Amino acid sequence: TPTTTSAAPAGGAHAALHARHRAVLPDWLATYYRRPIELTRGEGRHVWDAEGNRYLDFFGGILTTMTAHALPEVTAAVSAQAGRILHSSTLYLSSHAVELAERIARLSGIPDARVFFTTSGTEANDTALLLATAYRRSNQILALRNSYHGRSFSAVGITGNSAWSPTSLSPLQTLYVHGGVRTRGPYAQLSDAEFVTACVADLEDVLGQTGGPVAALIAEPVPGVGGFTMPPDGLLAAFKQVLDKHGILWITDEVQTGWGRTGEHFWGWQAHGQAGPPDILTFAKGIGNGMSMGGVVARAEVMNCLTAHSISTFGGSPVTAAAALANLTYLVEHDLQGNARRIGGLLRGRFEAAAARLGIVREVRGRGLMLGVELVVPGSGQPSAEAAGLALEAAREHGLLIGKGGRFGNVLRIAPPLSLTVEEAEEGADALEAALAAAQQAL
Ligand code: PLP
Repeated sequence: TPTTTSAAPAGGAHAALHARHRAVLPDWLATYYRRPIELTRGEGRHVWDAEGNRYLDFFGGILTTMTAHALPEVTAAVSAQAGRILHSSTLYLSSHAVELAERIARLSGIPDARVFFTTSGTEANDTALLLATAYRRSNQILALRNSYHGRSFSAVGITGNSAWSPTSLSPLQTLYVHGGVRTRGPYAQLSDAEFVTACVADLEDVLGQTGGPVAALIAEPVPGVGGFTMPPDGLLAAFKQVLDKHGILWITDEVQTGWGRTGEHFWGWQAHGQAGPPDILTFAKGIGNGMSMGGVVARAEVMNCLTAHSISTFGGSPVTAAAALANLTYLVEHDLQGNARRIGGLLRGRFEAAAARLGIVREVRGRGLMLGVELVVPGSGQPSAEAAGLALEAAREHGLLIGKGGRFGNVLRIAPPLSLTVEEAEEGADALEAALAAAQQAL
């Protein structure tokens, strides 16, 4: 059997690099792991660190390695294009970018769609907000609690968690509505239908109290950094009815949920009942399989409301577009969405079985290969960021890389490359259960 042989590095090259990192990069970059490692190679669903330890990658960067590490098709496309011309500026035509835009426009479900490429999710959301504010001539934006959309001024200004948005100097006026995330308190007692009704009532209250037009509502179909919390399926469809009444645009942030990751659907918004296509869709992360690409899709009349807007120097550059095109082709031809559904179901079953044996797990949730494991102090049931930190480190000692997040920092986030095999899923589930047991013991 493929073994999870790696031992977590005790010091050596990693400790020395970490010390240099801490002296020169922001403190908040070095705190995710207590003892960070340097990854030097990847292949398939595995990565290796600078000391030769091998890990099964259940986080794919941060959901950036969508298909597989070093996918030969992507590597070949990048090398071929890099050998011809690295960058030609978006002032010139690029056959890769045009073909990619054609395919994304078709896949988006948005009629008369236009695509604008950026280099990140933040920039994609910024552009979406700019389009919505210009189209509706309003800087009022509706955002959901517990949301995360990036780190620019506009994006932090619409982030639904004060810990992630330390400033309120946003150029936008943000109106927060309940995003359907079940937390402790009165909302937790409601049935799904009552819950949706309560969230819609919240939206209507907010709209009733605000003056002037509202430009858009931006929402992640499944909050990512927020901890893979699952809103009830019909929520966005119910919101959409209210938005349509007021002529408010709907922006779906598919930076984490796009490209079939959630298994049942190609986009996260499709799980939200009969909402119909959004007005604006943003994407990033996985499309470049590690290359930095993001983008915005919108109806032509919305996209073209900025007639003399500036270009993005690197958006849709030939090398990135070549990588994305090869990546997307592989994803569709190999039905990785179907794989995400099947393997996601298997993993979820394994995690639920482990949870039943361990007091540390409060909930296993998610869709496809986007699974959250929420950790608490056994007995008291209090959210435990400490438990998540311990589990993350213990998982690594068992040769497994995972992520963490959530409003209380207590959710393990599992989002492997979508080509994960059954054997790898079983191997990773074994490692995760061992890590959870170790974390429970160490708490
Ligand atoms: N939107 C969502 C849902 C995200 O999860 C993220 C990043 O985690 C972003 C936007 C920002 O993307 P980027 O880090 O590429 O700027």
